[in-house]
This record gives sequence, structure tokens and C-alpha cells, in this order.
Amino acid sequence: MNDCIFCKIIEGVIPVKKKIFEDDMVFAFEDINPQAPVHILIIPKKHISGLDSVKREDIEILGHIQIVASKIAEDMNLKEGYRLLTNNGIDAGQTVAHLHYHLLGGRTFAWPPG
Ligand code: AMP
Ligand code: ZN
Repeated sequence: MNDCIFCKIIEGVIPVKKKIFEDDMVFAFEDINPQAPVHILIIPKKHISGLDSVKREDIEILGHIQIVASKIAEDMNLKEGYRLLTNNGIDAGQTVAHLHYHLLGGRTFAWPPG
């Protein structure tokens, strides 16, 4: 049995606050604990536990996620910029073991990140 919370979101077992986008490869939805005025999670429908688990065969999914992120940013009118990131592992603060990209926008972000 798969206990992954993001797999359950994809299956519709766990509801999301707001679905932003879905196709055969990816699902995008609002983060439950937003860190910016726009905070969307983009996840592959295939369960991949994190960036360190991606394989060569996942190249289309990974590329597609970035195209989808760019399209969502355009749709959300994030003309001043946005940030797309994934946290991998404990040091990076990864809390959900299903690959996900945070699309953050609507404010200025510091660099380097904390
Ligand atoms: P990370 O810390 O990079 O693993 O990010 C996990 C993200 O998932 C956090 O920003 C959480 O707020 C978010 N999250 C966890 N559960 C849910 C949920 N049920 N719906 C939407 N976002 C969630
Ligand atoms: Zn999963």
C-alpha cells in the first residue's frame, strides 16, 4: 500500500485547496502553507521519492514540469519574476517524499536562501 500523501492527492483521495493544472504527466495545486502570495506545488503523477531518485527515463517528466511551471507563471501574471525549486533530503528541508517543485511568486525573494 502506498502511504504517500501526494499520490493520494493525485488519486483524489485527499482533496486540495485549489487545483491549478493537470495533464497525463503532472498535477499542480496550491500549497497548504503558502510562503508567498503565489505558492504552487507541481508534482509528477509517477511516484518518485525525490530528485536523488530520478532516472534517465524520467527526463521527459522533468522537462515537462519546467514547461508547465513557466506556463503557470505566465497565467498567474508573474511578470516581475518567480522562483522554482525542489528540496531534496533532510538538509534542504524536504518533508514529503514525492518529488515536488515549489513555484513561488508575488513577492521579492532573498538570495542566498535561508
Ligand atoms: P518540502 O518541505 O519541500 O518537502 O515541501 C512540502 C510542501 O508540501 C510544504 O510546503 C507543505 O506545506 C506542502 N503540503 C503538505 N501537505 C499538503 C497538502 N495536503 N496540500 C497542499 N500542500 C501540502
Ligand atoms: Zn507519491
